[in-house]
Amino acid sequence: MFHLHPNPMRPITSKNVAVIGAGAAGLVAARELRREGHGVVVFERESQLGGTWVYTSAVESDPLGLEPCREVVNSSLYASLRTNLPREVMGFLDYPFVDTKKARRDPRRFPGHREVLEYLRDFAGEFRVTEMVRFSTEVRYVGLVGDGKWKVRSIKRGGGSGGGGGAAADVDEVYDAVVVCNGHYTEPRIAEIPGMDVWPREQIHSHNYRVPDGFKDKVVVVIGASASAEDISREIAKVAKEVHIASRSFQTGSSAKLLGYENVWRHPMVEALSADGGVNFPDGSVIYADAILHCTGYKYHFPFLETNGVVSVDDNRVGPLYKHIFPPALAPGLSFVGLPWKVVPFILCELQSKWIARVLSGRVCLPPEEEMMADVETLYSDMEKHGTLKRYTHRVGEHQFEYDDWLAAQCDFPPIEEWRKEMYFGTGLRKRGQPETYRDLWDDEHLISQANEDFMRYIPKVPITKL
Ligand code: FAD
Repeated sequence: MFHLHPNPMRPITSKNVAVIGAGAAGLVAARELRREGHGVVVFERESQLGGTWVYTSAVESDPLGLEPCREVVNSSLYASLRTNLPREVMGFLDYPFVDTKKARRDPRRFPGHREVLEYLRDFAGEFRVTEMVRFSTEVRYVGLVGDGKWKVRSIKRGGGSGGGGGAAADVDEVYDAVVVCNGHYTEPRIAEIPGMDVWPREQIHSHNYRVPDGFKDKVVVVIGASASAEDISREIAKVAKEVHIASRSFQTGSSAKLLGYENVWRHPMVEALSADGGVNFPDGSVIYADAILHCTGYKYHFPFLETNGVVSVDDNRVGPLYKHIFPPALAPGLSFVGLPWKVVPFILCELQSKWIARVLSGRVCLPPEEEMMADVETLYSDMEKHGTLKRYTHRVGEHQFEYDDWLAAQCDFPPIEEWRKEMYFGTGLRKRGQPETYRDLWDDEHLISQANEDFMRYIPKVPITKL
């Protein structure tokens, strides 16, 4: 069914597509697929949309999140979380994330997490995405059946499907294509530290961190230097006795006090943990801590996906994937949205989805399989040449706008606005220079004006007609 010939006369075809996940990625994928004329079903495990942005005070039974049979909590948000991108940068390209002036909304430029959820709800309502979502329905299996189609096995969570209270049964359906949008901030990744298993005190992963109260008067070691590690350390420092942040990226031989704090220190990476509660550093110093908080990131995880080894996750490299989206041997029937990180995620997901939708309809053609494989091999060998670790395969980072623009060009869509790029890089600089205040003090008013001018193109649009 999916023979892709570079033939501009090919008729546009409509496919039945399963989208897994109703977070930001799944919502925009569903919108773009339907805009292109496809039939779409979105499977969402939770009872509401929004994915990461649905804050819950619930945490998992295993605080490190390693126990495979634990009841999974999807969101990794902590209660105080505010966005680390300005709202102008963050919103979808044609649905600006502006202050709605509605009651009980958060008008701040770097709003709290609830505001992002409200924005996603507005988006889903405006484009009638919600009606495509099957809530409380978990996908358990995705695998290829004959003639290029895909079997999707799902189960309704929370009891019987017929209202009779019996156990819900698996439902098998066949789709022309599957778009995987299941997020990648749920399955904790832990740095291997010798002695971790004998260290006797509390250890948690940031996935299960919600509020600082539990660290009152404690000596806490935070491992990692990500955005979450930065924010959480500062929050904990307000109540803890001491906070020690350890990371491979703090290269100096010894420890240093964090500027502006009396009780926060930065250290090189922990060398080992010991059974007496000691946290040992390479310079021979030891801290006896009450708790270790692992802010060490997450793993890609597709427990439902069966591709007979065609797609694998190896040291956090999902591959082989052409442009982080299509496995060449299974394209275009299987695709992934939202894998790149250190990026502006919403717009990236939007452009990936536009491309997928057009490829599935036949309006845009993929290169032959061998060419896609060669492109993946080039990426891998370039990474090797530059000494880039495998687990950074999807860290698109500084190349993200080039990547976005490439996707946009495939769809005859304009490149990312200059103000958005400038604002993004400016925010990064401010964040490094003034980590405590970058969300409330800024000097890029001229970019905000440009953004708002641009947004005027979208704001007066009438709902639904955009479909
Ligand atoms: P998710 O939001 O995780 O959605 C995935 C969905 O798939 C979930 O609803 C899940 O329930 C569902 N699902 C998973 N498996 C199944 C299954 N088997 N069957 C059915 N459904 C399933 N981004 C920003 O732009 N700005 C920020 O300031 C920002 N801050 C962040 C802070 C933290 C702490 C974290 C963790 C992330 C942050 N992000 C931020 C990134 C954020 O993850 C993205 O903005 C975006 O929410 C990712 O959306 P997603 O749809 O890819 O994944």
